[in-house]
Formats: sequence, C-alpha cells, structure tokens
Amino acid sequence: MALINCPGCAKRISSKAAVCSHCSLVLENVTEEKRLTMQKMSTIDKSSRIMNQSMLAMLLFCGGFGFMFWGDPEPASWQNTTAIGATVIGFIWYIVNRVRLILLKRS
Ligand SMILES: [Zn+2]
Repeated sequence: MALINCPGCAKRISSKAAVCSHCSLVLENVTEEKRLTMQKMSTIDKSSRIMNQSMLAMLLFCGGFGFMFWGDPEPASWQNTTAIGATVIGFIWYIVNRVRLILLKRS
C-alpha cells in the first residue's frame, strides 16, 4: 500500500482508497494517468489564481504610487493616507503572492 496525494484536496491518502477520506472525492475509477493530470490541472488553476492576485496587487501598488506622484495630495489628507495605504498593501500583497507561487512550483 502506498500513499498518494488526493487530486481533489492534495492531502495524503492511501492509493487503495476508493473515496478520499478528506474531501470524499471518488477515486475508484481514476487511473494513475488521470490522477496526475488532475493534480497538474489543480496546480495550474492555483498558480493562475495567484497570478491574478499579483496583477491586482501590482495595480493597487501602481495606483497608490501614481496618485502620490502625480495626484500630489495634501500631506495628512485622507487621500494621501489612502494612497500610502494602497501602495504598502499592494507591495506586501505582491511579495506574498510571488512567494506563494515559488512555493507552489517547488512542491
Ligand atoms: Zn481529497
């Protein structure tokens, strides 16, 4: 008996299990080839979701930064605070997504 990664939830399950005990995905008729394909698909799906999030983060960062740069808001105004907030959040969010993507590719 070997342990495999469930294609549905990526948790470790027995290769003999007919149904995943974590997410109740039916594995009975899933061949090894199909299982690998499903696993690959879920990885691609996850990485494209992370890519979308980093795009949003980048937009947030550029928007906040651009507004501070060209919008020239009054210091200590709510516009200025919002722009700084968007820049900082966008930057951190972007870094977090890059790290998640690297970790996903390594696994
Ligand atoms: Zn599962």
